[in-house]
Amino acid sequence: MFNALSAMPTVYAVVYAVFAFLFGSVIGSFLNVVILRTPEKQSIVKEPSHCFSCGHRLAWYDMFPIFSWLLLRGKCRYCKSPYSPRYMIIEAITAVLYCLAFLFFGFSMQLWYSAVLFAVLVVLSCVDIDRFEIPYWCSAAVAVLGISSIWLLSEDGSWQERLISFGIIVVLFGIMVLIGGMGGGDLQLMAGASLLLGYRIFAALFIGICLGSVYGVIKKSRDKKAEKELSKKILALAEEWYQQQIDRGSGYVTDDGDDIIVGSISDGKPDIEWEFLEEKVWKGLPDKAALSRALRDSISDEREGGFKIFISGREIKKVKYSRRMVFGPFLAIGIAASWLIGFKLVGWYISLF
Ligand SMILES: [Zn+2]
Repeated sequence: MFNALSAMPTVYAVVYAVFAFLFGSVIGSFLNVVILRTPEKQSIVKEPSHCFSCGHRLAWYDMFPIFSWLLLRGKCRYCKSPYSPRYMIIEAITAVLYCLAFLFFGFSMQLWYSAVLFAVLVVLSCVDIDRFEIPYWCSAAVAVLGISSIWLLSEDGSWQERLISFGIIVVLFGIMVLIGGMGGGDLQLMAGASLLLGYRIFAALFIGICLGSVYGVIKKSRDKKAEKELSKKILALAEEWYQQQIDRGSGYVTDDGDDIIVGSISDGKPDIEWEFLEEKVWKGLPDKAALSRALRDSISDEREGGFKIFISGREIKKVKYSRRMVFGPFLAIGIAASWLIGFKLVGWYISLF
């Protein structure tokens, strides 16, 4: 499994592995900057790093990946305000991944692919956690790795294998996106990765879905109360709004009609998908702006979720609100694991039959 250990004397392998770890931690601290600035479309290197709290410019020894955070116990040297451990964690994860890549692949083409792949996976996972979207360029980068690997890593699988995997993943995820639960970003990521991993993508999918489901169950039980309260809140607002529609004689559902108003909340702002309304059951058009306004004023604390307002005739039947969950990080873990040990997993699976 650890090719580096069999390819060179152990002492060398250990020294290189330590170097890979340190190199990974430096890359990780660069990725922190990319993650922070990606969604705002700022240039990546713009101004010198400074403390977010006191504004003091940081010296090089304050920014030494992982170790500065540990030495200063997660506080600013100058004003002692606490830093989130997040930056250190991202540096540490990148460092460990780079170290593993060296141990698994030694000095080979796969090592350079790992360096790019792991960096992209770290970035997209963090942006997905922050923003609930996988940046387009991250999936594109994985796809470019995949396409180039047809020639540069031809020993990892034929182009036919990659193409078949790509086709199956697109169909599978296409269905999952339609059913709900998976986003278009997840599809793009897995489609790109299938070109790189070939049949190993199914191991990635399995790992990703298992981890994601476990997290989903935990999250659901934790969010239950908040979801219930928000459903109630939205129900009260929707009822008030709907009564106004009925009172003004336009913009409500006819007596024997049913419809559902579908919407989402993102960073406290509502987004209602009016285009999904079944217009033929409505008497006149509803006052769309009024509902958005009513919602906006009272959900400003809520980060991400989706709601459905069920209407039956002149009554709002119920409101169902559920918080959104990210899947990207779990798929990324699946992809990283399959990249490192996917052949072993696929081989073991086939040996069962
Ligand atoms: Zn400070």
